[in-house]
Amino acid sequence: MKIMPNRLDRGFEVYKEEFEQKVLEVLRSGWYVLGNEVKKFEEEFAKYAGVKHCVGLANGLDALWIAFRILGIGVGDEVIVQGNTYIASVMGITINGATPIFVEPDEYNNIDASKIEERITTKTKAILVVHLYGQASNMEPIMRLVKKYDLRLVEDCAQSHGACFDGKMTGTFGDIGCFSFYPSKNLGAFGDAGAIITNDDKLADEFRVFRNYGSEKRYYNKVVGANSRLDEIQAGLLRVRLQHMNELTEERVRLCNTYLTSLCNDNIVLPTIRKGATTVWHQFVIRCRNRQKLIDYLNERGIGTIIHYPIPPHLSEAYSYLGQQKGTLPITEAYAEEVLSIPLYNGMTTEEQEYVIQNINAYGNET
Ligand SMILES: *Cc1c(COP(=O)(O)O)cnc(C)c1O
Repeated sequence: MKIMPNRLDRGFEVYKEEFEQKVLEVLRSGWYVLGNEVKKFEEEFAKYAGVKHCVGLANGLDALWIAFRILGIGVGDEVIVQGNTYIASVMGITINGATPIFVEPDEYNNIDASKIEERITTKTKAILVVHLYGQASNMEPIMRLVKKYDLRLVEDCAQSHGACFDGKMTGTFGDIGCFSFYPSKNLGAFGDAGAIITNDDKLADEFRVFRNYGSEKRYYNKVVGANSRLDEIQAGLLRVRLQHMNELTEERVRLCNTYLTSLCNDNIVLPTIRKGATTVWHQFVIRCRNRQKLIDYLNERGIGTIIHYPIPPHLSEAYSYLGQQKGTLPITEAYAEEVLSIPLYNGMTTEEQEYVIQNINAYGNET
């Protein structure tokens, strides 16, 4: 059997007719950028998240950097973020000239809230919370710090569509929730797409203006903005997927519960879920000391895996200018060497999953 770490084709096949019909509908409408589909998607996604506004954007990175731009956070300012995130989170901060201050993760792969306060200085302007791998971060202590130090809170929800902390959806705790709808995300488009959500009328307006060259009225530009518009085809396809979001999330939860109850091997550490938090299982991430051996073993048996992420941002070549040496974030660095995402996708069959489980369970006992 051959099992890939992810299968986007399966996600398409289940609702094939609806997706194909929607594309034709948009093609025939004669309107392709920022139209009715975008407007409808924004309304529907805001409703899904339980907030006042959603503004569609071109991708998740734009959502992040435009968020900090609009909040006025840039050169000379510091933003606290977890060390073990996807590099886009950090770029959202540094594109504006602000400095990322890295904090180690907890056992749930999210920022360790107990290590934030010691990193707050007079330059700290915001916390960027990343709900990594689909699990909500520890929002209660984080919200206390945000209030105590009067900080802005931006949430990177690129992996957490629908995940909650104490029943409240990720992306709704702070000033701005940033989403990516890159094809492999839980709510995936068929190309690049992103959005922000907010309850703040003024921030929402500023995003709408900024994404379209800073213009509210055609050819009258208020600010130097960006071209970060969401197109009609992607918005239409996202509307189709959003209608099925609850069942898609339930399917991932079911698959991962099977992994949790069936995987059994002393060589691996299984993911855990914090009390009060839910996860929408963007990835099923195990940890393994001798990771390369497990990767090779699974590869030989036709099972593909991915590492999210092999190089933590502070050690990436792109951030060599920050001058952070290996050893500055030992937990982050250990995770980078041990984490492994095993196959997980909507449409994964029982046979496929059983094959993965059997092989992982047999690892280390092979003759
Ligand atoms: C995917 C991702 C992004 C960036 O989204 P794009 O749409 O690819 O720009 C940002 N942060 C995290 C945590 C992500 O997983």
